[in-house]
Amino acid sequence: MLTTQQIRAKFLSYFAEQQHQTVKSSSLIPGNDPTLLFVNAGMVQFKDVFLGAEKRAYTRAASSQRCVRAGGKHNDLDQVGYTARHHTFFEMLGNFSFGDYFKREAIQFAWDFLIKELGLPKEKLWVTVFEEDDEAEQIWRDEIGFPAEKISRIGAKDNFWQMGDTGPCGPCTEIFYDHGEDIAGGPPGTPEEDGDRFIEIWNLVFMQYDKQADGSLLPLPSPCVDTGMGLERIASIMQGKHNNYDIDLFQHLIKKAASLTGTKDLQDPSLKVIADHIRTCAFLIADGVLPSNEGRGYVLRRIIRRAARHGHKLGAQGVFFADMLGALVDVMGEDYPELVAHQSTIAKALKQEELKFAETLEVGMQEYQKATGKLPKGEQIPGELAFKLYDTFGFPLDLTQDVAREDGRVVDVAAFDASMAAQKDRSRSNKQFAQANQISADVVQSLEPTRFLGYDRCATEARVVMI
Ligand code: ATP
Ligand code: MG
Ligand code: MG
Ligand code: MG
Repeated sequence: MLTTQQIRAKFLSYFAEQQHQTVKSSSLIPGNDPTLLFVNAGMVQFKDVFLGAEKRAYTRAASSQRCVRAGGKHNDLDQVGYTARHHTFFEMLGNFSFGDYFKREAIQFAWDFLIKELGLPKEKLWVTVFEEDDEAEQIWRDEIGFPAEKISRIGAKDNFWQMGDTGPCGPCTEIFYDHGEDIAGGPPGTPEEDGDRFIEIWNLVFMQYDKQADGSLLPLPSPCVDTGMGLERIASIMQGKHNNYDIDLFQHLIKKAASLTGTKDLQDPSLKVIADHIRTCAFLIADGVLPSNEGRGYVLRRIIRRAARHGHKLGAQGVFFADMLGALVDVMGEDYPELVAHQSTIAKALKQEELKFAETLEVGMQEYQKATGKLPKGEQIPGELAFKLYDTFGFPLDLTQDVAREDGRVVDVAAFDASMAAQKDRSRSNKQFAQANQISADVVQSLEPTRFLGYDRCATEARVVMI
């Protein structure tokens, strides 16, 4: 059986044999793109090459790129623990052509890798093409010999790939794997497609345009190819598993989480969440993000707190999340030496954040239970409660939503927003009051040095201060 690590190596060596330069994963923090929160695909580090603004010494490349999809255009945070295939951190295997090959070769490489190199059974595969892309369909049907009845034509929502609201984009063709009829779900393009039976494994994007802020599509200097295959998804197929969390790498993390929290049931979704989140948090910190109240740091804070909450739910006593780090280094340290190099910084940052939250997590959860215990089943969580949990106990909104979901409820977000806006108004008027005081204090200071002139005068000055 191939390990996840061996599959990654096999992919890179196959494409190296096809004259692709192996390129290291970039940091999760996009170096060239302020519009993007985190690197969410293999193509991000090549964005300027696609746009023609940067030249490289090669026209073909392959990589295994670490990606985070927790915020921004691609956000899978709420799927984690609920689907078999989504993580907030995952690795994207990809091959790229910068004005070199196009549709025909891209499809042929993908097919050869899956069928000849990995030995996947052809009959398990399903393919989609963009609804207007006759050429891609014809290549699949006539050149690969793929059965026409297993090719679905799909609209722009799924088969026109965009990194963000602007930038390189284009139509794509995607390859799916059928995990069998025991699992709920239908082929892509059917109403049942959201199930986990047909799982998307590989997206081949034919990069042709540069999307502008006004929505218009400018052609790229030359058509390119950008592909992305989830390493964990292909590993689950190769290891005879349906769920990504059952692969070697995740099982190691899940067992560790189970032992740290004293959990017997290894299928508990909270263990999956913790195993997912330790990867995201450790790599974000290794790439220089620290928990904070805004931007990337706030996403990190939210993820650490979510992990802490799931640990608490499983019965973890005190701080446990940072202790997951050793298990992560076991499975990923060899391929990602930065994880080892920054291990103590990561541990320190995680511990600090966990400790800070531990003080309020327990009481916040009690508050939640007390308030919701009286609510009729299914009734939404009042926005004021979610706001109190946020403001007093440090529960990010999505954390309360996560708790509520387990409880079969949703949070009244409009009321939460209204409470937040009201608090901002209050703090604004407090600030104005403070500023007014400051002005008065300045006025007082600029006065002649105070001489005691009797109580009347003092009373007047006191009023000045209060204006
Ligand atoms: P899905 O429809 O399953 O959410 P996607 O269409 O959003 O996937 P793409 O943007 O096409 O995904 O990314 C390319 C590949 O990366 C996917 O085919 C899949 O194998 C993998 N991938 C995408 N999102 C995730 C994720 N959250 N966790 C693990 N792998 C992922
Ligand atoms: Mg997705
Ligand atoms: Mg998809
Ligand atoms: Mg896709």
